Amino acid sequence: MALTFKSGIYINGQWVQPSSKAVLDVTNPATGELLASIPAAGRDEARAAVVAAHKAFKSWSGLNANERAAYLRKANAIFIERAQEIGEIMTLEQGKPIAEAVGEVLWGADYLLWYAEEIRRSNGTIVPSDSLNQRFYLRRRARGVVACITPWNFPNAMLLRKIAPAVAAGNTIVAKPAEETPLSAIKIFEVFHDAGFPAGVLNLVCGEPAPIGDVLLESPEVRQISFTGSTEIGRMLSERGGAQLKKVTVELGGVAPFIVFPDADLDVALNNLMWGKFANQGQSCVAPNRVLIHKDIFDTFTVAAKKRVEELKLGHGIKGGFEVGPMISEEAVVRVNAQLEDAKKKGAKVVAGGQIPSGIDPKRWCAPTIIVDAPKDALVTCHETFGPLVAFEPFTSEAEMIDSVNASESGLGAYLFTKDLAIAHRVSEALEYGMVVINGSSFGYVQTPFGGTKGSGDGREGGQDGLLEYQELQYINMNF
Ligand code: NAP
Repeated sequence: MALTFKSGIYINGQWVQPSSKAVLDVTNPATGELLASIPAAGRDEARAAVVAAHKAFKSWSGLNANERAAYLRKANAIFIERAQEIGEIMTLEQGKPIAEAVGEVLWGADYLLWYAEEIRRSNGTIVPSDSLNQRFYLRRRARGVVACITPWNFPNAMLLRKIAPAVAAGNTIVAKPAEETPLSAIKIFEVFHDAGFPAGVLNLVCGEPAPIGDVLLESPEVRQISFTGSTEIGRMLSERGGAQLKKVTVELGGVAPFIVFPDADLDVALNNLMWGKFANQGQSCVAPNRVLIHKDIFDTFTVAAKKRVEELKLGHGIKGGFEVGPMISEEAVVRVNAQLEDAKKKGAKVVAGGQIPSGIDPKRWCAPTIIVDAPKDALVTCHETFGPLVAFEPFTSEAEMIDSVNASESGLGAYLFTKDLAIAHRVSEALEYGMVVINGSSFGYVQTPFGGTKGSGDGREGGQDGLLEYQELQYINMNF
């Protein structure tokens, strides 16, 4: 199926043709077929986008909160109308099952509505002064141009989770989405265009990452870089952006532990494992990597999980009725399979999956797989898997289990299953993770702060904290 898109570049309210002949070829990960070739941005377009965003900043930040909120509410309504159409484009270029894609569009759109409401409650503070004729006011204001750089795994929600609070606060945007999923980003910017956002407030540059990244880092008008993606690129942007004294927020990967205590409701734990691990083919920064199960229930839980994993249906996400779509790329399949082979070489055993069912392309799909006996130095135990492979391990001592999961360099999401409130309080507070969910599997609510500690990044997205990231504090000392 060939899709037609005018451009992957939207600057100053216009779809732009690039100065060079550069194109981004977008393929369907389920088939390898070419979906679209879109004109792509380079240095010149990135610079033009920064200039347009800078020019729009004064008037956009000068609107009152309710005036800006009206644009966000309009965009939210259009996303709801077009959720199916935008979800289909996402499934075609990213592979996730269509129900998940449509769900993601509605989730992303909800950030627009939530921040349209929240910006109207963005209060300042009056600090007591030492004198009757003096007042200390603290007010929150926009920073300027914000560069948003996002990954392919949630191509709608990762962009909207940044853009919604940033523009609600009065900032203007240059967005650089992942090369694999520019079509979802283009659909987002079509919505912004149709919602009537003033020219220059929202700019899009799909294209080769390094030249665009260089311009965003070098441009003094860019006051903030908000990044979601790999640790390697996040570190580079933090170092180079930090050297320019830009604010840099980085949301990076994780090696999520999923901990099951013996008193847990095993059905609840299992249902949440199936969703947490296998949604989006396991390509989520909070997908469980290690499942730590108390030794008293290890065998029971493993047998029940094996049955559920073997029931998962693999297929083309666009057709519906499947739980597991293709991986984003053939390289991703190779990387996940290498983790499986590494674990097997070090003594791990496959208890479920490990083999692609007949009729499914093994170059494009990974089999949902459970392994046991992976040692501490196996890749799957200490590196993000980002695929439908998971390692089960028994634990006996609570203290040793906590030390083991806290030894990770990452600290994004952790899962805990127990009915005992004392365990829930004690263990959740001992975990060096930015987020802990107890008896559940979702972290990404619009009203809560998503983010990690240690190697998983710096900054929060969502909720009140997610708005503060895009505002700076001004202190006014008034004497009269
Ligand atoms: P990635 O390779 O770091 O890419 C992320 C973004 O950075 C893409 O838009 C990429 O562009 C861009 N980029 C690459 N090189 C750049 C450069 N020199 N300058 C500027 N931008 C550059 O990560 P990914 O493979 O797409 O995403 C997977 C990672 O994201 C995983 O580790 C996952 O855990 C993490 N993640 C974290 C969260 C969270 O909230 N913590 C959420 C989702 C995903 P190109 O695509 O054009 O290379």
